[in-house]
Amino acid sequence: MIDIQENIYFSGKYHVFMRRVSTNQQDIKSQILADEIYRSLIPDHLILIMEEKGVSANKLRYHEREKMKELIRLIKADKVDTVYAFDRTRLFRKFLDAMLFFDLCKKHKVKIIYTSSEHIQSTNRALLEGILFVFAEEDGKNIARKSSEVRRAYPAQKYGYVRSEDKKRYIYNPDKKETILLLFEKLQLVKSEEEFLELVKTANKQFKLNPKKFLSIIRDPFYAAHDLINKKVKLNHVDPYIPLNKYNQIQKRITPYFDNLFKKLQELDTIQPISVPVICGVCHKTLKLKKNFSTLEAFYSCAHKKKDQKIVMSHSELSINILEVLPSLVERLDYKKYISDSKKTSNFLNKQLDTELSKITPKLTDIMDKIILDLDVLPEEWMNHELYPLYTKYSAQKTEVEKMLDLQDELYKQVLYLTKLVKKEIAFYLEKDFLEYISLFFKKIILYKDNIVYETNAANYYTDLPSQPSVNK
Ligand SMILES: [Zn+2]
Repeated sequence: MIDIQENIYFSGKYHVFMRRVSTNQQDIKSQILADEIYRSLIPDHLILIMEEKGVSANKLRYHEREKMKELIRLIKADKVDTVYAFDRTRLFRKFLDAMLFFDLCKKHKVKIIYTSSEHIQSTNRALLEGILFVFAEEDGKNIARKSSEVRRAYPAQKYGYVRSEDKKRYIYNPDKKETILLLFEKLQLVKSEEEFLELVKTANKQFKLNPKKFLSIIRDPFYAAHDLINKKVKLNHVDPYIPLNKYNQIQKRITPYFDNLFKKLQELDTIQPISVPVICGVCHKTLKLKKNFSTLEAFYSCAHKKKDQKIVMSHSELSINILEVLPSLVERLDYKKYISDSKKTSNFLNKQLDTELSKITPKLTDIMDKIILDLDVLPEEWMNHELYPLYTKYSAQKTEVEKMLDLQDELYKQVLYLTKLVKKEIAFYLEKDFLEYISLFFKKIILYKDNIVYETNAANYYTDLPSQPSVNK
């Protein structure tokens, strides 16, 4: 579930709840239950409920569905704020219909929220959305695979297993069998968090199982040939690596260790690279942020050829250093001139990008229309259409320009942030998100064995700048 409060606000437009069952015998109740929490937060007069009963999205195109046509009419009239559906398949099963609808929603700034708790939320990224709809289309042809229980019981792949020839059984993968048996055996002997972490390290070193993978295996009841998510279900088609009672004992005893490690891994996951190029002072390579999931460290390093000058610097150490250097730069910045120049550049670029976009969009619509006209005969074949390559080409161009526009927005936000920064002074340095904005000040950061050199951005805007502010480590 997404954060409702953050995503619903009342624009005076409708919040449309779209529900669909493809036969009259199917039950619509689960869809009603799932959207209840959203409806409870919206004033009654803004709620519009549309139910399609006995309407198969596999068989019918959107223009053959009365309620869908009504929804599209409302969206085109700018009367819709958000469309709620249980999942993508409730809206469409036809890829092309879905893409058209998604484009329409984007154009009229209509949000789409999926109320099923297991569903991936709607995104703004056309390509990803397209892929997800392909799954919906595929899914429609294979209703049997739909429920998540089935997916848990019959995963496409599972580490340590291979499928039997008739695909009905999950049998031990002989290459992995000893490893997994050994890990579960050792887990039963673990008596402290230290011992647990020791085992995590061993798994990483000896068996190339990084801690994430390791956790995902030892917490998964599939290895005990059970599904335990809703109720206890024995999976008779799975070779167990550990008996259920022993699996349960392990979970009970070691859960706090699991949770601690999981939290640390998540923290490490969220660490972002410094937003300015970090460069090796010896070989001049741009360094990537590396993460070591067994030592739980994020760091920059370069071994290059001169072994005695190996460079290693942790992300946290570098961040602290940056925060120490910044105040002296802020003091010297002629921010009024900087802001006014940035605004000018930004406006100029935005205009150019807008022009570009207004050239591509009609071309794209034109091609889409042509493809759709042809496809009334052959709806499944649209990717084979002769215009399809051109469509993807213009789509890609459009995405590229939109990305640039976003970037422009981001730069403009940075400038506004800078204004605030200069006014609010030191307290701002301690704010979490500050590291995202350091590209306002630095062009690159160069790491040497014993010191760090900062190259400033927009050097023209500083007064009395020392040639290069550098700091000894
Ligand atoms: Zn190097």
